[in-house]
Amino acid sequence: DFIQALQMPGSKDKLKKEPELTEVEMKKLTIEETKRSLPIFPFRDDLIQAVQEHQVLIIEGETGSGKTTQIPQYLHEAGFTADGKKIGCTQPRRVAAMSVAARVAQEMGVKLGNEVGYAIRFEDCTSERTIIKYMTDGTLHREFLSEPDLQSYNVMIIDEAHERTLHTDILFGLVKDIARFRPDLKLLISSATLDAQKFSEFFDDAPIFRIPGRRFPVDIYYTKAPEADYVDACVISILQIHVTQPLGDILVFLTGQEEIETCQELLQDRLRRLGSKVKELIVLPVYANLPSDMQAKIFDPTPPGARKVVLATNIAETSLTIDNIIYVIDPGFAKQNHFNSRTGMESLMVVPISKASANQRAGRAGRVAAGKCFRLYTAWSYKHELEDNTVPEIQRINLGNAVLMLKALGINDLVHFDFLDPPPHETLVLALEQLYALGALNHHGELTKLGRRMAEFPVDPMMAKALLASEKYKCSEEIVTITAMLSVNSAIFYRPKDKIIHADTARKNFNHLGGDHLSLLNVYNQWRDTDYSTQWCYENFIQYRSMKRARDVREQLVGLMQRVEIEIVSNINETVNIRKAITAGYFYHVARLSKGGNYKTAKHNQTVTIHPNSALFEELPRWILYHELVFTTKEFMRQVIEIESKWLLEVAPHYYKPKELEDSTNKKMPKTIGRTTMTD
Ligand code: ADP
Ligand code: MG
Repeated sequence: DFIQALQMPGSKDKLKKEPELTEVEMKKLTIEETKRSLPIFPFRDDLIQAVQEHQVLIIEGETGSGKTTQIPQYLHEAGFTADGKKIGCTQPRRVAAMSVAARVAQEMGVKLGNEVGYAIRFEDCTSERTIIKYMTDGTLHREFLSEPDLQSYNVMIIDEAHERTLHTDILFGLVKDIARFRPDLKLLISSATLDAQKFSEFFDDAPIFRIPGRRFPVDIYYTKAPEADYVDACVISILQIHVTQPLGDILVFLTGQEEIETCQELLQDRLRRLGSKVKELIVLPVYANLPSDMQAKIFDPTPPGARKVVLATNIAETSLTIDNIIYVIDPGFAKQNHFNSRTGMESLMVVPISKASANQRAGRAGRVAAGKCFRLYTAWSYKHELEDNTVPEIQRINLGNAVLMLKALGINDLVHFDFLDPPPHETLVLALEQLYALGALNHHGELTKLGRRMAEFPVDPMMAKALLASEKYKCSEEIVTITAMLSVNSAIFYRPKDKIIHADTARKNFNHLGGDHLSLLNVYNQWRDTDYSTQWCYENFIQYRSMKRARDVREQLVGLMQRVEIEIVSNINETVNIRKAITAGYFYHVARLSKGGNYKTAKHNQTVTIHPNSALFEELPRWILYHELVFTTKEFMRQVIEIESKWLLEVAPHYYKPKELEDSTNKKMPKTIGRTTMTD
């Protein structure tokens, strides 16, 4: 039943000699014992002293050494919060910020949200009493808008600096600047890998504090041939390890929720068939959209005699450390945003990871004992096909959001901004052009009143523009809901394997022929009309938790709308207005029908296709607008609405010329069906 492709270590005899983790090793350590056992612990006093002596400190230490959870506590104990000011710590990932805050609150014996809290987009779990605050890097970026000197902080830790997310990269420049006129602010840049030297140079040769790692050897195995279906290969490898290898937990790296769910279903299916022939295998997923109580389960100690397998996105690569992982399965892929500055197209795609990433992943197997890493790709591929390092986000994604934020902070000269690695010039120019077309910047590149209002919203500039345009089109109620729904979109519809037909039928009932944004609006409004019923969600194959989150996000957005003085008014029967407001923000994302049911983007003639999940998949309207692109086998547009080309001249006169929008070449288009059912 198991694949042969995987080269399992040595002979059976050798396998038997591997020691099982003894009960003593597996026993649950008390919190205090755990804290003392972390590699950072012996360096506690030296670290405090170094922070006292230097304003900026670079900290380098292997993942799991205790940087994120311990350093804020050490500094708190050393008096850095005595005056009531905070210690801040940024995380690139939402999940990590929440999970780590929960852990630290537990270690300190306080209630999460009191002394220890976290803030992520659309969610602030802090209070007046908070002195240790974890937050996403994006959240700190926003805090600069209301508190440009970070006056409420004594210490700021830019953590997981090696991840080099766009926000973290920009924070480097911002905090470096602040450190100059706030000599009392301590700045820590913490990183898991080899970039410490580079960070040190950037921060005027700040000293590097190295925490020696404790790493056990990890044996690495490759497949003999490439795997055609790596999810399936994961399932087989998991079972193979489970059956042939000594106890110890398994960590599997997949690219996203869907893949994780598929893997989980396949695995549970097989396990059921194996029945009691095998030991207990506890399967636990972890990904960004998973509710936090479910996420927390990955940290529960594995019961004696059982084995745990964690199916994770690259959250578990460096941001989260799960103890007792002995086996890592690495298919070698991750999801990434890619931006093409020539076509202006940004899409999410699954790409091969870098060697640095692969090595981080493997390292997760060697924290508590010697481990094994199974790479589901060939040794040749590792050597010749993987890049050495992951390209920093700033060099590969759309900068619209970042540029808007910097402009809102009064930083006008972006070309001379202090970047650790500057973004490509053309990407920067394109971002400026897009913001100009959106009306956020004037032709001198200065922020307009509209731009200032847009910057109030923690969303993409296009989304912000749509929210603001809803004022003119008198449909703010609907746009706010749509925005909230889009922000949790991927996790709204539930599709259990044994009820696919029912689930799909239920989903179709929400379909609106105007497009998917309106279908999402339908879902939300119907749910609201049941007084937010759980039962209703259950009956309609809708994920209740996602809806609850949408409702929270919506509430936040309503608050922000009040801040920019936009009244919440409803215009549900006029979907033209709703769609025009969306178009006012997303006019870049427009495509027209071309041959064979494909679409071409309006400006750059790139081929794109409607995602099969869309309500418009079979309708093929002449002009459509998409919310996002996802590249799998081709460029798929996810969430599309039908629009009219003349709206583009109304909402984006700077960007579109009438000639570009002529339909004359498309005379023989198939007539779209069902349009008469639209309300307008
Ligand atoms: P680093 O930041 O150096 O990678 P961390 O401070 O994140 O290290 O992790 C230190 C220890 O804290 C690890 O052993 C990890 O398992 C544990 N830990 C972190 N978060 C949690 C949590 N939510 N529940 C239980 N243990 C946790
Ligand atoms: Mg960490």
